[in-house]
Amino acid sequence: MADTTNSGCRSALLDSLGWVDHAFQAAGEPPPPEAAYGHQRHSPTVVLDEENVPPKSCESDGLIGVTTRPVAVYTADCLPVLIADARQHHVAAVHAGLKGALAGVLFSAVARLKALGASSDSLFVAIGPAISPCCYELGENVLSDIKQNPRVRQPVAWTIEQPHNPLAVRPQAQAQQQGIWFDLPQLGRQMLLQMGIPAEQIELLNICTYCMAETGASYRRNTHFNSGYRSRYSWIQRVGA
Ligand SMILES: [Zn+2]
Repeated sequence: MADTTNSGCRSALLDSLGWVDHAFQAAGEPPPPEAAYGHQRHSPTVVLDEENVPPKSCESDGLIGVTTRPVAVYTADCLPVLIADARQHHVAAVHAGLKGALAGVLFSAVARLKALGASSDSLFVAIGPAISPCCYELGENVLSDIKQNPRVRQPVAWTIEQPHNPLAVRPQAQAQQQGIWFDLPQLGRQMLLQMGIPAEQIELLNICTYCMAETGASYRRNTHFNSGYRSRYSWIQRVGA
């Protein structure tokens, strides 16, 4: 299990590339001062880094980095997705919660990278700490909306019984309704696979923001306990040539 208590966590897959630096920072830590990030709206909008310098100059939920400037997203339970294109040495940071994923933000980010010269097999992706099926309850009506979404082409991962998380460091979410337990990181992974990215080039960090990550990392836990939450900044940048 990754230690996210103080300094955030990293992807071994992205580290193996050798030409990117990145971090899924701990909740509440400030982003790198030169990082570009958008005013996030759970939209499919993806822009180039320069359009969000200074940060939040425009609305976007994904940024493409074509320079050495870090591109970032901030999340609480949503998926922070960092992408590196080994062909052009471009990078991307994407904020993909359930709403944004269903609106197509991962598809727009990959399409934009491909328009700039990437191919499916040149992309390496890491999905950082996010709410996981051990703690992510949804109503049946939401599940049926997900299944009917045209971007969801394969069966999605969910269970009726709440999955036990043996790695939890605090109590898992308690059921609030007669709902189901949904696997959001797997939905993100499925969408990436659907776009032709090889499975071995997608890493899930498998850290649940509700029951495993550092204190104050989960928006949903805050809604249950009024315990407070702070954004997690995740960023990626090209280093060297
Ligand atoms: Zn959990």
